Amino acid sequence: MENKEVLNVNVVTPNGLIYDHHATIVVAKTVSGELGVLPKHAPIIAPLAIDEVRIRRTDADTHVDWIAVNGGILEVRDNQVTIIADSAERERDIDVSRAERARQRAEQRIQEAKAQQDSDQLRRAEVALHRAMNRIKVSKHT
Ligand code: ATP
Repeated sequence: MENKEVLNVNVVTPNGLIYDHHATIVVAKTVSGELGVLPKHAPIIAPLAIDEVRIRRTDADTHVDWIAVNGGILEVRDNQVTIIADSAERERDIDVSRAERARQRAEQRIQEAKAQQDSDQLRRAEVALHRAMNRIKVSKHT
């Protein structure tokens, strides 16, 4: 008998469908904590943190895919896991030197915002720093 208890995982960004695989488990960081999704998981919609998503594919016993997700939403329903985010990159697609430059720019902007006591600019720069640090972290999983 065919085993249907696997997850189908899609990651969608404005650039299109960047990930489409069958998996045995997905682990993501929601804004309220880590969420592990196995087959038969109850339906859920959760906002995601800027963090990594790990996916164990059915066709790769030991290999885990890592995706740097820039926030977004995760939905689980009927063994279908859909992540929709403004941007998301697989570990192998991350340009590390670009992320490093983004990190340096963000750190510079944080210093400027603190000097000018500009809380909006500070918040934006901190988010940009978080995005860059997340990409750097995920790129190390290759
Ligand atoms: P940068 O300042 O380098 O543009 P950013 O955080 O402002 O970084 P985003 O606005 O989050 O970039 O993303 C814009 C597009 O560029 C998205 O398609 C995203 O996937 C891609 N992208 C951003 N940084 C990287 C990176 N380091 N490696 C690969 N793709 C990236």
